[in-house]
Amino acid sequence: MYIFKHSADIIAYLQRQRKAGSKSGFVPTMGALHQGHLSLIDKAKSETDMVVCSIFVNPTQFNDPRDYAMYPKSVENDVLMLERAECNVLFLPDVLEIYPPGVNTKKHYALGELESVLEGKYRPGHFQGVCRVMDRLMDIIKPDVLFLGQKDFQQCMIIKKLFSLLEIKSGIEICPIEREVDGLAMSSRNRRLDPTEREKATGICKTLSFVKENIHSGNLDKLIEEARQILLSHDFKIDYIEAATVDRLQSISSWDGKTEIVVLVAAYMGEVRLIDNIVITA
Ligand code: AMP
Repeated sequence: MYIFKHSADIIAYLQRQRKAGSKSGFVPTMGALHQGHLSLIDKAKSETDMVVCSIFVNPTQFNDPRDYAMYPKSVENDVLMLERAECNVLFLPDVLEIYPPGVNTKKHYALGELESVLEGKYRPGHFQGVCRVMDRLMDIIKPDVLFLGQKDFQQCMIIKKLFSLLEIKSGIEICPIEREVDGLAMSSRNRRLDPTEREKATGICKTLSFVKENIHSGNLDKLIEEARQILLSHDFKIDYIEAATVDRLQSISSWDGKTEIVVLVAAYMGEVRLIDNIVITA
């Protein structure tokens, strides 16, 4: 695996590969890698000739400085995992490489209502930061296909919107959520849970399974309230649990029993903020 720290070097390398006819897949990450990230690498490997992964803990998407400071880091182990997964290229920039003096960090992306609901409501500025880093990374990597995880459902939609705003032609593939054996969605943040919290954290996927098993067409308020109670019984502090349309993430309080919808949760287990979601089809 080739490791690049400087954008000029990776740009030159990828240009040569493109000229040679290589189709590239890109998996952007913030490191502290787990099987969820590796599932994206595997998918990219199966569909492209060259897999590029990036590890960059993006300061501009953290609305809480403490969350940024506490974000887990394990670069040496990440490199080993990527080598084993036969990733071809790793981009490992520092902050000045992504945001050099002169790069406009005040650019505003017109994301519309998508950025003010759910995560956007609880993490002001978060999606502008996500767009800022993706704008830079896409400009550097220029992949044929971008691989993203459904785990960050709203982020996937934001990035699709960004692509249409910037007229980026790369494809986007959304990959399923990888879970631990007890159902907890894999996340770098899970490392920050102590053993008791880790056990209780399964409440988040139990809640989503409960919703999926008990949902019927009609009003959803009672079901969502029951779901809230399950989260609270596992000691979660809830930011939101909402049923929403899959296209625009508009909150819904009733379901026709046919249209695909998504139920999304964000909640704190101790100091650790976890998110998860489940898509519900008829
Ligand atoms: P992150 O390092 O958290 O920024 O995530 C990098 C990419 O991995 C994003 O596209 C995430 O949606 C994806 N990802 C994170 N956790 C999982 C998971 N459990 N299953 C599948 N993809 C994931």
